[in-house]
Amino acid sequence: MMISGKRLFLALVKKCNQPLSSMGIAQAPNDGIEAISLIQKASAAMTISKSNGSSHSFFNQHTQQNLNLRSQLESRLMDALNKNELSLHYQPLVHLKTQRVVGAEALLRWHNPVLGNVPPDKFISLAERNGQIIDIGNFVLHTALSQTAKWYKAVEHDFKIAINISPLQIRNPRFLEHVADLLKLYQLPATALELEITEGLLLQDEHIAQFTIQKLQQLGIKISLDDFGTGYSSLSYLQKYSFNTLKIDRCFIKKLEENKQDRELTKTIIAIGKKLNLEVIAEGVETVNQDAFIRKECCDLGQGYFYGKPMTAEQFERTFIHKKCT
Ligand code: C2E
Ligand code: CA
Ligand code: CA
Repeated sequence: MMISGKRLFLALVKKCNQPLSSMGIAQAPNDGIEAISLIQKASAAMTISKSNGSSHSFFNQHTQQNLNLRSQLESRLMDALNKNELSLHYQPLVHLKTQRVVGAEALLRWHNPVLGNVPPDKFISLAERNGQIIDIGNFVLHTALSQTAKWYKAVEHDFKIAINISPLQIRNPRFLEHVADLLKLYQLPATALELEITEGLLLQDEHIAQFTIQKLQQLGIKISLDDFGTGYSSLSYLQKYSFNTLKIDRCFIKKLEENKQDRELTKTIIAIGKKLNLEVIAEGVETVNQDAFIRKECCDLGQGYFYGKPMTAEQFERTFIHKKCT
């Protein structure tokens, strides 16, 4: 079919898993006049809109380029696990009163010989969309827990590993059992594991999330609300779900020194966490003044470049675990 007339917008709209709809727009005659070609272009624009999390996207010369890049990333990611290209880095969690490193956050890294280091922000959403996150998430759980089992024995105080969890993982009916089995396998107490979840996870399937969180906590596993303060309705999550830990997003900590409003917001978030008996962690602490501020406000833990950047297991062990691990 040919499209005639002066100007025509073809918009494809898809309601995805995310809360917003995504719209892809192709325009006739600029992007073509054949109906089939316009539909393909609007569809390509919609894919880009979905992956950006934006409400709409116009087809343009970069759309096809972006799509090609994405599919290249996707096909290489398929092999990443088998080719041992994935690894974990660990970033220290510091108890602000005692100055002790009481745990670590496990952060995924992907090094591909052709693409180089691909940041997690680029490939995790892709893995979430094509379902690979289940296998990748299992790799993260296995690797982080087996590593933690060694460190747990070597330190004299409690030690916890914080692991980021994606929505698809928690919606998997076998997730609970799988995590419990891994704790048994590596002989770790459930209290040594904290699962970090973000708003995206809580927006979908509220009842499944509530049920799984409750069951995980009954086992003794801690649940942390990541990136607190950045979502649409972070406060309502505190009302609906039961958490053990609140992680203040980096964006509040970043401008603590120059921005009075951010100082007041950070103080308020810490106070809310305390009132609700939650452990509070400040993320993205980079300077001595930021560290002093959160300390003064009685924040419990700090995480950020000021205490240590994410590093390999070997570096982490050398720097923070003083006894030899077996
Ligand atoms: P996140 O969970 O908020 O992790 C913290 C991010 O902040 C990490 O980025 C870390 O490297 C960075 N960071 C820590 N301290 C500082 C600081 O002082 N300054 C600055 N500028 N940045 C700091 P990274 O490693 O690039 O990870 C990005 C995101 O990817 C994570 O954000 C998390 O949402 C996701 N992610 C990482 N690993 C996993 C994983 O195993 N599974 C899942 N589902 N998501 C993961
Ligand atoms: Ca996190
Ligand atoms: Ca975070």
